[in-house]
Amino acid sequence: MSEIKKYRLYINGRWEEAASGKTFGSINPYTGEVWAEVAEGDEEDIERAVQAARRAFEGPDWKRLTPTERGGLLRKLGDLIRDQAERLAQIETRDNGKLIREMLTQTKLVPQWCYYYAGWADKLTGDVIPLEKPNIFNYTLREPLGVVGAIVPWNSPLLLTFWKMAPALAAGNTIVIKPSEHTSVSILELIPLVEQAGFPPGVVNVVTGYGETAGAALTKHPLVSKVAFTGGVETGKLVAKNAANHLARVSLELGGKSPNIVFPDAHLDNAVNGIIAGIFAASGQTCIAGSRVFLHEKIHQEVLGRLVEKAEKIKLGDPSKMETEMGPIALKEQLDKIKKYVEIGLQEGAKLVCGGEPPTDPELRKGWFFKPTIFTQVHNQMRIAQEEIFGPVLSILTFRDEDEVIKLANEIPYGLGAGIWTQDIQRAHRVAREIQAGTVWINTYRNVSFASPFGGYKSSGYGRENGFEVMREYTQVKSVWVELSGTVPDPFVMR
Ligand code: NDP
Repeated sequence: MSEIKKYRLYINGRWEEAASGKTFGSINPYTGEVWAEVAEGDEEDIERAVQAARRAFEGPDWKRLTPTERGGLLRKLGDLIRDQAERLAQIETRDNGKLIREMLTQTKLVPQWCYYYAGWADKLTGDVIPLEKPNIFNYTLREPLGVVGAIVPWNSPLLLTFWKMAPALAAGNTIVIKPSEHTSVSILELIPLVEQAGFPPGVVNVVTGYGETAGAALTKHPLVSKVAFTGGVETGKLVAKNAANHLARVSLELGGKSPNIVFPDAHLDNAVNGIIAGIFAASGQTCIAGSRVFLHEKIHQEVLGRLVEKAEKIKLGDPSKMETEMGPIALKEQLDKIKKYVEIGLQEGAKLVCGGEPPTDPELRKGWFFKPTIFTQVHNQMRIAQEEIFGPVLSILTFRDEDEVIKLANEIPYGLGAGIWTQDIQRAHRVAREIQAGTVWINTYRNVSFASPFGGYKSSGYGRENGFEVMREYTQVKSVWVELSGTVPDPFVMR
């Protein structure tokens, strides 16, 4: 076994041990072995990091940079990441078991976020307001908030960090990042690039550690002006409660149980590929997993047959090999949760038509693998139709008409994404309007871009990432009033 690499916290431009001196191991889900050792930061370390971030926010090195210069740093960081994309992708694959081909795509996308938000840095203009008061010149300034606390999950560590970090820094904030305890390494390996790009000390800080300690301390810290969170619903509620105590702003990107709806006039080959991409890409460990498929009665049997055929051929294996189509599940707890849901589905009376268990292939023995799994005869009230499994488990439901499927698709607490497969253009847009979700894909699935807003309806969270929309989350607006006539008359009358 190769030597275990050790990582420390990054606070105020320095690598530091956790105050407690504690560390923990990061496990490779393909081998089940510890491959890196990470500092276990907690409240004391968060205190130092937030204080450093606040000092950097107020200090001249960051504040005096022009917005164009700030954008320049982000652009440079993008270039540096582009040059290291392959190495960073390999780290992520080792840390969370996701396919190298998926992580490589993600790490190659990260620079796009840097470039896009670098462009916004000097375009955050205010307005001149044409007031009804001729003696007043009124304008607005769009200003940063202060320290941003960013909490990211394990499924796409760097990409989801940049969904927060790129706009936060472009707007002039500083940041403290708390990665998931399961996937800290790529974010720590990013830091030398942040330094090389020229960000002043304290602008970007990373405190690794556990959610209940380091994560919670970050959300509670009174100097954190905004918490940007991606993770599960229950954690999201805790985050919002903690942040509310000091009225920090919060954006929550939470889970989903997204409907993928196939009408009888759909291009079925495309729909089948879209369904497979929706649930089996990333082994189903994605918030936008299309885990509830609604098939029209007329095409149900045909699509089901094709899905099962494709699912059974999916190549499970070493995620670091380009030919592998499904890697292991990232965490042992997650694998146990998937197994539990398969039992629940069977108890609820759903019919298991493929998968439902770990593979028996001896080569996959050490990893936390689970076969692509499909349930039919699922009813909308079953737990496997309502609860996020976060694994390769698909629930298939049927419908008779448009009104029925809209009702069924919306009868769920979540509202993150939805897919609609039809060649009828009117139907496509009609249904897109009615679906309660932050993103609707028509004849495609699992598409995201830095330029288009992303976020949830209902329990899938609030606030938006990506596009200009997110800049509102990292800025506040100041209204400036200037008296032009040179007189201030009656002091007892509001003007
Ligand atoms: P968790 O909610 O458990 O964890 C998410 C992050 O929060 C991790 O960094 C975790 O740290 C941290 N955390 C845990 N407890 C606390 C706490 N009390 N206070 C502050 N931070 C805390 O989610 P999972 O890691 O299980 O991630 C999967 C979930 O994320 C799924 O539900 C999925 O849908 C959602 N998700 C949503 C996305 C979206 O964009 N909407 C994208 C990707 C995932 P640690 O890991 O160290 O415990």
